[in-house]
Amino acid sequence: MTGLDIFGKDVLKSLFRLMASGRVLGLALATPCGSFSAARRAPRESRMPSAVRSRTFPWGLPDLDGPDVRVAEVGNSLAKVTYRIISHAIRHRILFTLENPATSLLWQLPCFVRLLRGPHARATILDQCQYGAACRKRTQIAASTLLDTSMLCRRCGQRGLCTRTRRPHVVLSGKEGGVWMTGSAKVYPSGLCTSVAQTFRAYWARAYADQAMSALRPSLPTRPANT
Ligand SMILES: [Zn+2]
Repeated sequence: MTGLDIFGKDVLKSLFRLMASGRVLGLALATPCGSFSAARRAPRESRMPSAVRSRTFPWGLPDLDGPDVRVAEVGNSLAKVTYRIISHAIRHRILFTLENPATSLLWQLPCFVRLLRGPHARATILDQCQYGAACRKRTQIAASTLLDTSMLCRRCGQRGLCTRTRRPHVVLSGKEGGVWMTGSAKVYPSGLCTSVAQTFRAYWARAYADQAMSALRPSLPTRPANT
């Protein structure tokens, strides 16, 4: 499946069918963080994006009006479908990762709080500058506990100078060339893509090695032949 709208007719049903078929080895999810972003902090009367959520009201502020209501609703729908996909992945023992900024209010939704307190997922915090991004972009990845995510938790030492480049981080604020800086930082640095892929590969390498050993085991003598 490529380039499909998750809200399109039967798309989710087809995805679940595919996941149940045993042909999905892993899922790397990156739910759009727009309405959950801490960067939405302008005053309500401003023309800049203002908060539609808070830690107390992660599903949406009670006094939203105008276009912000729709902004919150779309974000909520994306969060709910993400949670359904992860639940399905857990049911079928499919590896998964979910990425969002560390400060995203997505992580404050009760379903994701429960997920990260439970036995099936754990959170890893990393800084994208350590994987090649110009900004620090502290990021949280919720990953299946089947994955060893220890190689993913590279962090920068300080806010000012980057420990990787020895230069100041680019600050994600305002627009450049008519594009929101937070928007242009959506693309992962290739080093992060590689590291996430390596965590999946490491799981499958271990799993195949175990499988190969199990296949050999019945033919191995359980005790010395002369006893
Ligand atoms: Zn850095």
